Amino acid sequence: MKIAGKFTTDDLPQVCPLLSRKTNPRYGSDHRRVVEVAGVRFGTGLPVVIAGPCAVEGWEQTIELARIAKASGADMLRGAAFVPQTSPHRFQGLGLEGLKILRAAGNETSLPVVTEVIDVRLVELVAQYADMLQIGSRNMHNYPLLVEVGRTQKPVLLKRGMSATLCEWLGAAEYIAKEGNLEIVLCERGIRAYPGGEYSRFALDLNVIPAARAETFLPVIVDPSHATGVAAMVEQASRGALGFGCDGLMIEITSNRVDALRPQCDADQAVDPATLRRIIRFANSREEQDAGKVHVFGWAG
Ligand code: PEP
Ligand code: MN
Repeated sequence: MKIAGKFTTDDLPQVCPLLSRKTNPRYGSDHRRVVEVAGVRFGTGLPVVIAGPCAVEGWEQTIELARIAKASGADMLRGAAFVPQTSPHRFQGLGLEGLKILRAAGNETSLPVVTEVIDVRLVELVAQYADMLQIGSRNMHNYPLLVEVGRTQKPVLLKRGMSATLCEWLGAAEYIAKEGNLEIVLCERGIRAYPGGEYSRFALDLNVIPAARAETFLPVIVDPSHATGVAAMVEQASRGALGFGCDGLMIEITSNRVDALRPQCDADQAVDPATLRRIIRFANSREEQDAGKVHVFGWAG
């Protein structure tokens, strides 16, 4: 029995004909689309690492963490200027000032920057400052916002909705693609499942990495920070994600100096510089760089 509105990976050719491998024979079963963000290339087989604070909370904090990211070998800088908070009473971000700080820190360290756009009315503004537009988990289903970022032609980092199926996630990506913007990187960031809240923030769905890579040619990265919510788990989650063939990682970081400034956002999941360096060393030194190959299961083309 077919249930209205219930989609599975079998429906992908209909839901996302622009992004499904099945409807794009030129991508075959293992070709990847390389997405370039100001010189940084996702999907080449070499993992890309994005690092930075959860939120841009000030110049001193952001430049310190940008320098640490750069010195550790990260490829890009992250930081929210508009922070999607569960409570409206919590820090909502520095807004335009935050965008300016992030851009300046990126320029000073020669790191391209990615930041979240939470509102359709802010897309043009954020696009003026960011090299890549992030759609957060809470907004993955915000179709007018997806359409608007699709129209910018800026690369988009599309996080998975915390309860989204693979089909819904790729359907969201298709909204961006339909506007003519194929510069999309997918980001798994943990889903709501049994362990969520008990010993970790969400459940990191490693299985979705090879599944997504088998179904679409878009690069897939992983955010181990929001997936676990626990700094002590981030390194192992990163190794696991790399083992499952992800194209990169996005990691929230801190330092003693920044801790002294009492950051307001996600302090419990931010890793220290030494941990970031170890993760990046591991990412760059894996003997078995997969060189863009999909470890195919299921779909045989
Ligand atoms: C973030 O990356 O800043 C963020 C808010 O994550 P998510 O949308 O995955 O919760
Ligand atoms: Mn965060």
